[in-house]
Amino acid sequence: MKILLVEDDTLLGSSLQGVLEDHRHVVEWVDRCAAARTALENGAYQLMILDLGLPDGDGREVIRWMRREGRKLPVLVLSARSEIADRVAALDLGADDYLTKPFDLEELLARVRATGRRLHEVLSSRIAIGEIEIDLAGHQVWRSGEIINLRPREFQILATLVERRNRVVTRRDLEELMSTRDQWVESNTVEVFVHHLRKKLGPSVIETVRGTGYVVRID
Ligand code: CA
Repeated sequence: MKILLVEDDTLLGSSLQGVLEDHRHVVEWVDRCAAARTALENGAYQLMILDLGLPDGDGREVIRWMRREGRKLPVLVLSARSEIADRVAALDLGADDYLTKPFDLEELLARVRATGRRLHEVLSSRIAIGEIEIDLAGHQVWRSGEIINLRPREFQILATLVERRNRVVTRRDLEELMSTRDQWVESNTVEVFVHHLRKKLGPSVIETVRGTGYVVRID
């Protein structure tokens, strides 16, 4: 998934980013409400992990703003506030889940997986393409039963193509999906990632549509 992480604690933010990237998520990390709004306006994410106590305001303002704008992104709130009233207020505002600090990383990862499953519930979570099998929610890929190690952006490309199967995904769409504020991905970078993916998946999974983009065909 592409995740927007909003956390002003540098140590926690960097360790969360590291752990989530180890689990093949693409993570953009910001530390202010204003930066979160800018990121949401400019990028496409599948999940926001949001701290409430931020230097320029309350994280709940970001949720309020987002819902007003009609954005439907799932939100997982991280907060040191453990009072039931705080949890209820955040959930009522439109947060999808709430985790109290300090929390266990395994629990956070489980909640992130649960969000992934909800996102993919219309699809069967495991999808087979020839000798390749993909678990979209679990972020795992096998070739002939052997696990393949994909980097976060490689997984992101493959997952997007599988989600939009039998339709052409433009290079531009993939660039946007893979880019973060700190790192804009150029279209030749997308080609490089697809090249690496083909080496790992075999040449026939991802088809090139000349001048446009790529498609994964599944019957
Ligand atoms: Ca904080």
